Amino acid sequence: MQLTITDEAYQSLLEQARRDAPMESCGYLLGPDRQTVTLNYPMRNTDQSAEHFSFDPKEQFAAVKYVRQHGLVIVGNWHSHPATPSRPSAEDIRLAFDPNILYFILSLAGEKPVFNAFAIADGEVKEKICLR
Ligand SMILES: [Zn+2]
Repeated sequence: MQLTITDEAYQSLLEQARRDAPMESCGYLLGPDRQTVTLNYPMRNTDQSAEHFSFDPKEQFAAVKYVRQHGLVIVGNWHSHPATPSRPSAEDIRLAFDPNILYFILSLAGEKPVFNAFAIADGEVKEKICLR
């Protein structure tokens, strides 16, 4: 599938992830349609963990409200892997319960950040889209 992310949105999540490292960072990626990300919507990682993340249900509710108010869609959610590659862990796949959104993973493990999006359904990765 075709998927683009604006430099602004990417820089925003990159800065957030670097700030939160070595903890995992996370958020929603929003846009005017399912193929275009124009905004990083930062979320707090309530796990405060270097290996997994959880959203705060109250913040999730506020995000959904924001999306509706601004006529946007949730293209997907993202989280960082501060020390591991940009691919879903077994837990990431297990927790990817919504086949209608994409799961973005930013890896800070290498010399350069790596950013991919994954379509996950029925407990497996259906598609990988390389973004950065
Ligand atoms: Zn992960």
